[in-house]
Amino acid sequence: MSNSEQTANTDRHQQKMQKHKEKVDAAIARAQEERGVIIVLTGNGKGKSSSGFGTVIRTLGHGYKAGLVQFIKGTWDCGEAKILATLPGLTHEVMGSGFTWETQNKEQDQRAFDAVWPKAKAMLSNPELRTVMLDEITYMLAYDLLDFDELKTALENRPPEQNVILTGRGAPTALRDLADTVTEMKMEKHAFKAGVKAQAGIEW
Ligand code: ATP
Ligand code: MG
Repeated sequence: MSNSEQTANTDRHQQKMQKHKEKVDAAIARAQEERGVIIVLTGNGKGKSSSGFGTVIRTLGHGYKAGLVQFIKGTWDCGEAKILATLPGLTHEVMGSGFTWETQNKEQDQRAFDAVWPKAKAMLSNPELRTVMLDEITYMLAYDLLDFDELKTALENRPPEQNVILTGRGAPTALRDLADTVTEMKMEKHAFKAGVKAQAGIEW
């Protein structure tokens, strides 16, 4: 490439970046409202819980307090929860003896849910908690352990500054409607489907 071609390229790049910067600056100027948000991370692709945990770490990293409730057995001993539980500022609850894909015992699952839900509700009314993550909560709705209106009321009455992250496949439309941010993780490929064994540090 000649020197003049290189200069023209650099100019074009600079103009493109300038335009992009103007758009970004305008969008930043427009977004002025300050309040907590509801984030739903759903879909069949990998990355829902790990994204939620990453956001909880962001919250803690700024010195804010956060809450985490894990609703599915098997996700409890994941690496993120282990490290998060050691950090100051995190309130951590797991749903007790109970819900797995295997139990298939509605009464037992309901008892386990009923024991943890008041703790989740307490987090959703605690103004000290900047972010609350309800991991795999969509299954509590799907299996009728949690009534949507009960969740909706708790979310709507939470402190105005509080952010809530809800994860799990198959988030119902009503929950998506209530949320401010919804990400549908799309599965394009997953190593497990090709026979690669789930591994600590990647899958949990
Ligand atoms: P992660 O915890 O890795 O962010 P996730 O929360 O999006 O995953 P879940 O539906 O909660 O996904 O699945 C729990 C476990 O199954 C995790 O170990 C995850 O890595 C794995 N997993 C996620 N999506 C798929 C998939 N499409 N096929 C196979 N395994 C998956
Ligand atoms: Mg998950």
